[in-house]
Amino acid sequence: MNLPGHLTVRDGHLYIGQHDCVALANEYGTPLYVTDEERLRSNFTRYDEALKKHYSDVQLLYAAKANGNLAILRIFSSMGAGADVFSSGELHMALLAGIPPEKILFNGSSKTKEDLALAVEKNVRVSLDSFDELRQLNEVAGEAKKVVEVSFRINPAIDVPTHPKIATGLATSKFGIPAGQIKDAYRAALECDNVEPVGMHCHIGSQILDVEPFTKTAEIMVKVAGEIKELGVKLDFIDIGGGLGIPYRHETEAAPSPDQYADAIMPVFLKGIQKLGIKPQLWVEPGRNLVGDTTVLLTRVNSVKTAHKKFVNVDAGFNLLIRPAMYDSYHEVIVANKADAEAECVYTVTGPICETGDILASDRNLPKVEDGDVIAVLDAGAYGYSMASQYNCRPRCPEVMVFGDRSGVMRRGESVIDILNTMKKLPWHESNK
Ligand SMILES: *Cc1c(COP(=O)(O)O)cnc(C)c1O
Repeated sequence: MNLPGHLTVRDGHLYIGQHDCVALANEYGTPLYVTDEERLRSNFTRYDEALKKHYSDVQLLYAAKANGNLAILRIFSSMGAGADVFSSGELHMALLAGIPPEKILFNGSSKTKEDLALAVEKNVRVSLDSFDELRQLNEVAGEAKKVVEVSFRINPAIDVPTHPKIATGLATSKFGIPAGQIKDAYRAALECDNVEPVGMHCHIGSQILDVEPFTKTAEIMVKVAGEIKELGVKLDFIDIGGGLGIPYRHETEAAPSPDQYADAIMPVFLKGIQKLGIKPQLWVEPGRNLVGDTTVLLTRVNSVKTAHKKFVNVDAGFNLLIRPAMYDSYHEVIVANKADAEAECVYTVTGPICETGDILASDRNLPKVEDGDVIAVLDAGAYGYSMASQYNCRPRCPEVMVFGDRSGVMRRGESVIDILNTMKKLPWHESNK
């Protein structure tokens, strides 16, 4: 199997960085998320440099929802990243990680007044998604006697080749202001006393493996920039979102590199802004591309059963990695303690959750699997832990970071007590035992 540089096979075991995955599973227990810090850093640098080769005024905003662990946010923060946050919680985390407010964009199609008030209090920019939100933000900012800088999320109405559940820029999507209303939105913002439109934002979807939709998006964004400029808006930034995919199928899938992505968008962007005589910052919001391949989910085999198929029953399911169940997504799996053994059988790897759809990997050629083996699910760094749940009253597992010869817990595992602690006995049940 083609492995990325930070994953190797040594003496029959799968390694992440300098660490034996089997030893990590034994030390920290399973299930376990393990992330390689060096890979995080090199992914960030690769993306940043690809764009800055073309234009120096580029700002990366890490999409915090891909993996919101504070340790990861701190690493990206120290490397100069901003953050795309989609909730008040993510905003708190980004600020805690030391990301300066001016590099944070508060996104979302359904914010509460409390969300807006927090954005105003923390002096971050807001990407607006409706006329109602514009009015509400103007009121909230007025009460605080502040002027908030905003962008609108523009719906570029383009078809993107990805799973329908993660295509966000379709004309029918819930996100963004439709083309016909964009000018009205900026006009309305210009009339507000406590809101100042300074940017444009869009995000067309996720796990996109073709650069063409990004080129089209850049074209649309600079075209709309021209219309907005005519209204008298001074554009400080144009944010073209994230969405660049990664190759989850290591043998057959190819993904454009950040360099190819940059080559596809930058000429269009630069030509467009030159024509308009403007010099906005270019903002991009990668999530998956920075963290996706940095992480493995280690899970131990509880039992192997021959039934309709050969099932490998492991201790992690869609409670910890919902992507296969939710998006039919594919993750490579490796038997970490038999990493160079010949494939012998076709197995389906299933989790412990009480749902038929709790399948991590279907019909894979693997070496002979036995109880006690450790299976590594690759490319689990994006939308893995961050989408995990406590379904079936299963505490979420720990997250470990490795860096050189060191390893450490960056989030402890939960216990049933953690789950119990949020529950309350109802007053009318007090007399019950
Ligand atoms: C999810 C999201 C991103 C990141 O998407 P990736 O596919 O992980 O790069 C960027 N911007 C916005 C607004 C998002 O919702």
